[in-house]
Amino acid sequence: PEIFRPLRANARGFDLTHTPTLTALETARAPFATHVWEAAPLIAGTSAPAPAQDVTSPTGLGAAPGIVRNATPADVAAALDAATPWDAPLDERRKALLRAADIYEDRFGEIFALLTREAGKGQPDCVAELREGVDFLRYYAAQATNTPAAGIFTCISPWNFPFAIFLGQISAALAAGNAVLAKPAEQTPLIAHLAISILHEAGVPTEAVQLLPGGGDVGAALTSDPRINGVAFTGSTATALRIRMAMAESCAPGTPLIAETGGLNAMIVDSTALPEQAVQAIVESAFQSAGQRCSALRCLYVQEDIAQPFEEMLIGAMEALNIGDPWHLSTDVGPVIDEDARAGIAAHIATARSENRLVAELATPDHGTYIAPTILRVKGIEDLKREIFGPVLHIATFKSHELDDVIDAINATGYGLTFGLHTRIDDRVQHVSERIEAGNIYINRNQIGAIVGSQPFGGEGLSGTGPKAGGPNYLPRFSAPDTMSAPA
Ligand code: GLU
Repeated sequence: PEIFRPLRANARGFDLTHTPTLTALETARAPFATHVWEAAPLIAGTSAPAPAQDVTSPTGLGAAPGIVRNATPADVAAALDAATPWDAPLDERRKALLRAADIYEDRFGEIFALLTREAGKGQPDCVAELREGVDFLRYYAAQATNTPAAGIFTCISPWNFPFAIFLGQISAALAAGNAVLAKPAEQTPLIAHLAISILHEAGVPTEAVQLLPGGGDVGAALTSDPRINGVAFTGSTATALRIRMAMAESCAPGTPLIAETGGLNAMIVDSTALPEQAVQAIVESAFQSAGQRCSALRCLYVQEDIAQPFEEMLIGAMEALNIGDPWHLSTDVGPVIDEDARAGIAAHIATARSENRLVAELATPDHGTYIAPTILRVKGIEDLKREIFGPVLHIATFKSHELDDVIDAINATGYGLTFGLHTRIDDRVQHVSERIEAGNIYINRNQIGAIVGSQPFGGEGLSGTGPKAGGPNYLPRFSAPDTMSAPA
């Protein structure tokens, strides 16, 4: 059916090469360099309890960015009792979401400072994250219809996009008229608290969106209650499977689980590729956001004929990266999210080092939870037993007659999120993209940073259930099943 689509444009973001923009950014962030934020459950009809526990910064620099009070079982029960689907007229729902998008953009200084201090995000990542978050709000507001809502949606989001993915799930559920119970990642409650407070300020009722910060216990409670009519989850494949089991035991059959999960993403560079273009795309795909994107490149296949000079160029480009405090504009790679993440990635690198598979690595700062960009040799993607969620690139070579075997090996991982191909042979683009099983395929460019509305994002197989976020099929999944959709 036709749906109402007002004119909608993606946010312009910030040009970080424009000096007046940089000055404005510094001025807007400055008051928040030492600010202490607070996060606590936001439950309709109750006042937020006092937070008590420090939130640590992965940068290891300066004072803690804030304090948090996680939700108790009683908070979860109270929030479930208070949850009321948002039955305001469509236009009112749209307006509140659009108002929130404007407020987020106005308060960019605080949001950037918080993303940097709580999540270790560098400035280009802050720009991209704010942009994607407001794009989701405007996109789903534009797509909302009068189709009845599902009811109560639990939204569980990851720390790697603590603003954009958090708000992407929530804004879709709200645009469809649901009540939302939002459980942010345990590492990033502060930005979540700010984001929900702004939704309330913009006119979303407190019963329609409530915040329940906490860990796995809170998530478990929010996915195993018969009153839940749907769950949106982004995180690991293992957690998605646990949620599915919990829902199977307690929710009505057919209760949707919309899950975006992990990936083991590959890129193929053949001997006809433009080396400069491919090197830049690889550095961005593997190391931007410290490799902490589920879209990030994990395993690069380079055609043997060009492998040696290509690898030298790639190492040279990697060596030009600045690792350090993400507050500074000159920083390319910030910390990984926490000590658990750092230790797990460091152990993976140590194993490769002991097996003589370390190709190159940069030096790590002596504070915070950093992993410096690293390249490891593998025979093929089958050597990667799990997703290494950090700035670690695995590199393999292939002979031209082995191309189909490489494709088979990539497909055999069972994941299917992003894939990159660099070639100047048109038939090869056709052949490879027809055979590769991946949700998002990128040709002759990087493979991260899908844009809302033009590159719907999501995977297949172990990488997620679909529908893709930021695409036309996402919002309808938050509506009641088996209902005819009428034009708005
Ligand atoms: N949508 C992001 C991208 O295209 C990745 C999302 C994620 O890491 O969960 O890079």
